[in-house]
Amino acid sequence: MHTRTESTFDVISPATGAVVGSYPVFAAAEVEASVADARRAADWWAGLGFTERARRLDAWRGEIVSGRAELARIIHQEMGKPLSDARLEIAMALEHLAWAADNARQVLGPRSVRPGLLAVNQECTLEYRPFGVVGVIGPWNYPVFTPLGSVSFALAAGNAVVFKPSEFTPGVGLWLAQRFAEVVPEQPVFQVITGPGETGAALCRSGVGKIGFTGSTATGKRVMAACAETLTPVLMELGGKDALIVDADADLDAAADAAVWGGMSNAGQTCLGVERVYVHTDVYDEFLTKLVAHARNLRAGTGAAKIGPITMPKQIAIIRHHIEDALARGARALLGGADAIDGQFVQPTILVDVPEEAAAVTEETFGPTLTVARVRDMDEAIERVNAGSYGLGSTVFSRHNGRQIADRIRAGGTSINAYVAHATITSLPLGGVGDSGFGRVHGADGLKEFTYAKATTRQRFSLPLALTTFTRSKTTDALVDRLVTQLHGRNR
Ligand code: NDP
Repeated sequence: MHTRTESTFDVISPATGAVVGSYPVFAAAEVEASVADARRAADWWAGLGFTERARRLDAWRGEIVSGRAELARIIHQEMGKPLSDARLEIAMALEHLAWAADNARQVLGPRSVRPGLLAVNQECTLEYRPFGVVGVIGPWNYPVFTPLGSVSFALAAGNAVVFKPSEFTPGVGLWLAQRFAEVVPEQPVFQVITGPGETGAALCRSGVGKIGFTGSTATGKRVMAACAETLTPVLMELGGKDALIVDADADLDAAADAAVWGGMSNAGQTCLGVERVYVHTDVYDEFLTKLVAHARNLRAGTGAAKIGPITMPKQIAIIRHHIEDALARGARALLGGADAIDGQFVQPTILVDVPEEAAAVTEETFGPTLTVARVRDMDEAIERVNAGSYGLGSTVFSRHNGRQIADRIRAGGTSINAYVAHATITSLPLGGVGDSGFGRVHGADGLKEFTYAKATTRQRFSLPLALTTFTRSKTTDALVDRLVTQLHGRNR
């Protein structure tokens, strides 16, 4: 690893304000040196083949499992989430890592493809090849689950990875890379470079084969602009403003439980977090009573509190603005409110009667807040959900109409009668549309994301009719013409 720089930065615990680590700032030259090392490592790693790579990835998974208590502690210290939530995050990430290692050969390995009538003499092969080096830029909110959605799949596909973790969670990234180096000691196949946004920007310009970016929509646009300079392809896993819909026939207890967990867990700092709830008018009052009763039991704080601090100091001003702006526009806080903010801690907040154009409804809040709105029917709910610019995830509670409602929601995923199930299932892709980005992590799509399709043909014998040659005869032209009519003409 290249760490010649003198410059360092501190990581501050959002819960206590204590310095919990100090890490080097990688400057552009050091980023380029890491990528150059990764290029050499990539050839070696790709040469190992699917079976040996899967063996190494399984060994890495074993290392993470043995050290998971320590890893959970680092997550907790650096970004503040409760230890048990950190453990749950690690468990979910391990599932996807196992899937990527198990399935890479089947999804990406060479396969025969039928050539079609005019090329019957060709043997055709399709395979998915690694880019070489993939740069991964990750956020702090799920510092294991989210980056590993890119890192594990890029590695399983045969790429080397240079990972720039968020400056709020560099220790988590380094821990993962150190454990990897224990099972792959030969080459720097998975490196971590630490530093602020500029380090990430240098990675974008370093000539990697692809950037897997997860973070905010605003930063995503800057990353795309930097990558455009070198035509580096990008995966964009961006922010969200996910909604939960409650139909008249929904299980209201389950829906209220899902809304509270979806909105308040991780202190609301979840890309797929529930931020808006739309409830059928027939069950609105009953649902609200259950929701508030449920959320009232939760407390943000340290120790045994189930909600941790807000990780980024600057996020507090955004959460405060969303709450105060909504209240100024006539909303009511049934729980929490602007007074519920104390330093880095925000108590659960439930807002009703929020106008749809308020920032609390249109922009990512990233705090433990929910807006709840009454809708006359599911048409209105879907219209309001789809009016937003984001399209990451969504949740629907309905005993009979879940699938019909889900099919009309514009989002990369919808979970019916459960919150966020689609993000935990290993064979399903995860990603968004609109301001939530493009490209997919997880599942077969997630593996293909870190490869390019390679098409190969081998001519097995010469056809009596040579088509792609200047010696083509008039007889051949006439025959092709007749074939075109036979093959495609009847559609006219
Ligand atoms: P940011 O966009 O602030 O940062 C994401 C990463 O990009 C960080 O590592 C950051 O570094 C880095 N970065 C900042 N500026 C640049 C730049 N100019 N060039 C390259 N890299 C740069 O997001 P957050 O870390 O605050 O994460 C929260 C966001 O992530 C939310 O919007 C959330 O919805 C989204 N997210 C999306 C997910 C998805 O699957 N769609 C999953 C999880 C989160 P540094 O931190 O050092 O500034």
